[in-house]
Amino acid sequence: MFTEYSEYLIHRQWMQRALELAQVASDAGEVPVGAVIIDPTGNLLAEGENRKERDKDPTAHAEIIALRAAAQTLKNWRLHQCILYVTLEPCPMCAGAIVQARLGTLVYGVDDTKTGAIRTVINIPNSPASNHHLRVVGGILESACRQQLQTWFATKRRRKN
Ligand SMILES: [Zn+2]
Repeated sequence: MFTEYSEYLIHRQWMQRALELAQVASDAGEVPVGAVIIDPTGNLLAEGENRKERDKDPTAHAEIIALRAAAQTLKNWRLHQCILYVTLEPCPMCAGAIVQARLGTLVYGVDDTKTGAIRTVINIPNSPASNHHLRVVGGILESACRQQLQTWFATKRRRKN
């Protein structure tokens, strides 16, 4: 029980960093999504935030940027036993990339009821097309992650009016 609780506290700590990165995206006019990858010993390996608008790149999601940076740092595309933290449930593209990277654990903040591809809309990790077992923890700092996205979309709607 204690081990599980201390793991929960570590998850909260890294999710807090992912929220900070999402705020960087938000401040730059991007949908706020942030991601962090830590290595099997618990050290920071890579970070990313949504850069679609700035990079004019439909694949520049926070998770893809962090996965690429982590693989470069490790000089290995296999991210065995690494943990990826992301504020929002990954989309189909990112879920596919996470499976491709052989990631150990995915920890995310809030479910994405529109495009969530981990368990909410579809389940890519457990689909017949996935040859990799991924551990998933959802709902870490869920309300803070949800609030950040809701605030961003509410502000965007106000600007349009
Ligand atoms: Zn994505």
